[in-house]
Amino acid sequence: MEFCDECGSMMKANDGFWVCGSCGHETPRGDASEYVITEDQEASEIIESGGGSNGLPTTEVQCPNCDNDQAYWYLQQIRSADESETRFFVCTECEHKWREDDH
Ligand SMILES: [Zn+2]
Ligand SMILES: [Zn+2]
Repeated sequence: MEFCDECGSMMKANDGFWVCGSCGHETPRGDASEYVITEDQEASEIIESGGGSNGLPTTEVQCPNCDNDQAYWYLQQIRSADESETRFFVCTECEHKWREDDH
């Protein structure tokens, strides 16, 4: 259960957000550093629909395609794989997408 930062009212869970029933204030649910999307979603959709502050988190990582040093990242669940989640990066410059290699 969460309480609104703005007015202290009880908040309701709604699509990944806590929404205040009283003033409408929204806050992301859970840990903001863990952004998990499903197989059905494309990272580009989230980047486009999310815009700036509500989009994917970025991290300092070197793009193998253009040497840019910042990329969006997200965890994607792959049902067929042994691991439950795999980390992917999407370059903020050229939108090149690659998965984090475990080795
Ligand atoms: Zn509120
Ligand atoms: Zn790039």
